[in-house]
Parts: sequence; structure tokens; C-alpha cells
Amino acid sequence: MGRRSTIYSLLMPVMNQHVPDLDKGKGMYFLFIKSEAKTPGGLVARPVLTSYYKSSHFRNRPFDPYTNYTSPNETILCPDSYQSMYSQMLCGLYQNKEVLRVGAVFASGFIRAIRFLEKHWSLLCKDIRNGTIDPLITDTSVRESVSKIIKPNPKLADFIEGECGRESWQGIITRLWPNTKYIDVIVTGTMSQYIPTLDYYSNGLPLVCTMYASSECYFGLNLKPMCKPSEVSYTLIPTMCYYEFLPVHRNNGGVTNSINSISVPKSLNEKEQQELIDLVDVKLGQEYELVVTTYAGKSVPVPSRDVLRVTGFKNKAPQFSFVCRKNVVLSIDSDKTDEVELQNAVKNALTHLVPFDATLVEYTSFADTTTIPGHYVLYWELRRLDKSTAQIPPSVFEDCCLTIEESLNSVYRQGRVSDKSIGPLEIKIVESGTFDKLMDYAISLGASINQYKTPRCVKFAPIVELLNSRVVDSCFSPKCPKWAPGHKQWHN
Ligand code: AMP
Repeated sequence: MGRRSTIYSLLMPVMNQHVPDLDKGKGMYFLFIKSEAKTPGGLVARPVLTSYYKSSHFRNRPFDPYTNYTSPNETILCPDSYQSMYSQMLCGLYQNKEVLRVGAVFASGFIRAIRFLEKHWSLLCKDIRNGTIDPLITDTSVRESVSKIIKPNPKLADFIEGECGRESWQGIITRLWPNTKYIDVIVTGTMSQYIPTLDYYSNGLPLVCTMYASSECYFGLNLKPMCKPSEVSYTLIPTMCYYEFLPVHRNNGGVTNSINSISVPKSLNEKEQQELIDLVDVKLGQEYELVVTTYAGKSVPVPSRDVLRVTGFKNKAPQFSFVCRKNVVLSIDSDKTDEVELQNAVKNALTHLVPFDATLVEYTSFADTTTIPGHYVLYWELRRLDKSTAQIPPSVFEDCCLTIEESLNSVYRQGRVSDKSIGPLEIKIVESGTFDKLMDYAISLGASINQYKTPRCVKFAPIVELLNSRVVDSCFSPKCPKWAPGHKQWHN
């Protein structure tokens, strides 16, 4: 916890070198806790940020004009995601002129907050007009802390209603919070898919990625926070853990390290162990998979499976850009679904098609972030073995959607059920021959016909367009999958 706090304490001194007067106002950050589970041994297991926000390091932090937030601690620590979001948004709107920077941990979280505002602005304005707190906010500590801030302000309520009631929401962030200098959210890695949406809502305010961290360990920070998202590099702080690096070799355009396997080994094998190099030995321009040995993990390396590229040095400390998270095919929020898991979920769903003599010819997937919240889309090409059997009713595809969701990991299901950060999964049925067209297209771009494999996830816009142009049917998951805090896999 001390090491984490150290990294946090370095963020504002770095920002302060690039953006003046950040001590003259507040930060509007949407921060949330998630529910906890117990390990079989009785220890509390929870996401790293939940443990940080609940710690005295965060709760009892001394006043610092550089980390003055619009959200009272009680609103962040409220376990009910609706009440937490509502109260944080209310306080942020009420103090709109004081806000100098806005943000959330990941871009997806910030966009979710804007979406929430789209749905609930009239209720929020009613509270601002009357100085009240909506009765749906039942948490007494939240009510108490918010009531200290909110007083009747009809003029502000009129202004917010005027802005939110306009047809276009382009630039809504700069309109409602006119003194905002930047948006502080992670938009590197899979989060880069949200950049166009953020640009739209903010009229292109700078997007600032301040740090690179994980549950296992916090790694480092961005010393040039005002650079473009595509140019972000993180300087690893050498004392956060013991860093080692597994060289990544690029074969046929794909990223592989020397052991090319889909199933992720829990720890490194002997050959990988021999290839590991130290932080002082990394080479400029080379890509590596990061392997860390944490203080808690003692001698057990924790492969985070992040691929990083060396972009330069700060004194002698190497700086890295984030290339990708290996094996992750789909991600909307903090969920990370790999190929094996997706394959398994699809396999489970196919049992619903057996009575209809239908088989899956090919499939791929797409993380659709044009909807808010974003959702997983699966493209399925089916073959009917016996054309005379009855049509497949829509409810069967709905069952398939739900079975896939039930089969995905607990972080995904928590996002669907509790955080509402992920929308219902969608299956789009494409006409027969679509995946051949996809292969033709890939080959026309130079893929080797021998080595062509249907990608299990697509991102490239022309390919998504091609798939969408051949959709004959589609359906969504009809309800949320099962998830309960007690069902959480504690090792997540
Ligand atoms: P978790 O282990 O769920 O806390 O997530 C940690 C992972 O999130 C890292 O291993 C990265 O894959 C990703 N991540 C964290 N910070 C960043 C960042 N600044 N840019 C890109 N990806 C990040």
C-alpha cells in the first residue's frame, strides 16, 4: 500500500510541470468500489482499487489542493453503483465552475458517467434546483456528505437543463465544465477504442494517461502526460517490484514469444526462464513481455502478459509504450476475455442448436463500443444439415447469447450485472459464404493463404463493415447472466 501511495503521490508533481494552476480548483473523478469475496482460506479478496479506496491511505489523506476532488469519500465508498454514480455526478455538476480536470480510471468508466448523465440529467437538475437529494439515494452516509455540498441553485439548474436538452451532445464536457483543462483516463491498450467518443464529448480536450499499473503491482508513470495517446510511454519505477523481460519475436506479422501457445502458462517454463533479461539490459525498440516478481509473490514470477516496447530512457530507467495484452481478444471495461475462454463459451452455447441440425461453420467477435455501455458481438455463420427441419426460433439464439454470458468469467459477469459497464451480448447471424469473403479480403491484403486463420476477434473497420453488410439476423441476451459476489473467483 505504501508503494502504491508513492506512485499516486508522484502524479500531480509531474502534471504540475505541464499544466499550471491545478491547485486552484478541483478534479471531478468518477471512482468506484466493487464487491468483495472471501478466499477459501478466509481472506478478503477484492480488486486493487477497491482495497486502495477503502484504505486509510486514501480515506484519511491530508488535504492537498492538488488532489481536491468533487466527490466526497462517502460517495466513492458507496457499494451501490447507481447511488455512487448519481451522487458523484450531482456533486460534480454542482461544483461545475471549480472543476479543472475530469476523469476516471479507464476511458470506459468516464464514458459510462456521461451516459448516466444523458439518462438522468432531469432528475439531477431537479435536485440542484431545490437543493434536495433524490429519495432513491438511501445510503445515509452518502446523503449526509452530499447535503453538505448541495444548496438550491435554480440558475445552475436552468443552465444544465439548457445544455443537456440540446439535440447534440458534442462538446458536452467543455460546455458543462467550462474550465476543464484535460481528461485523465487510460486510453492506451484496448482503451484506445474509446478515443473518438471522448474527442466528440470533449471537443478534443487533451487525453492524459498518467500511469501504468496492475493488480499484481503498480509499475510506473508517464512523464510527458500532455503527449498524444499514441505517443504515451511509461517510465517503470525500478523499486516497485523485480522486473524481468521476455523478448517478443514477431513472426509473419503476428506477435509471439518463443513459446507460441494459446493456453497461458500460469508461470514461466524452463525455456522462458532462460530467456528472461533484466531491466538494465532491455534494448531500444525491442518488444518484451513483462514478468514481475512482487514483494508478496516472493520468487514466483507473475506473468502479466503485457507486451511493451522500449521507446527511450529517463536517465537510465527504460521507458515503454504499451503494445497489447497478449491473448486478450475482447475487452469493454476491466473484463479481459481470451481466445480459449471465448471458444469454450461458444462451444457451450452450440448445444442449443443441436435439435435444429445446425452447425457453426465459423465465428468471430467484435467489442462494439459504439453502444454505451459497449457490448460483445459474435458473428456466426451457420450451416443447416437438414434443410427440412423447422426454422430456428429467435428464442434459441437468445438462449445461446445467455449461455455464452454465463460461461464467461466473473469479471465480465460482474460488469454486466453489478457495474452495468457492459451491455447485453449480441449474436449476429451472417449469410453463408461470409467467412470465405473475409478470407478473400485478408488474402487481398497480403495474408498467406496457407497460414490464414479466421481471426477470433476483429477490429479493422473494413472487416467489421464487411461482416455487418452480410448480417441476416441478430439477437441480444435477454437478461443478465448469474453473478453474485460469493460466486466471484477470488483469484481475479
Ligand atoms: P488488472 O490486473 O485487472 O488490475 O489490470 C491490469 C492490466 O490493465 C495491465 O496488466 C494492463 O494490461 C492494463 N493496463 C493497466 N494500465 C494500463 C495502461 N496505462 N495502458 C494500457 N493498459 C493498462
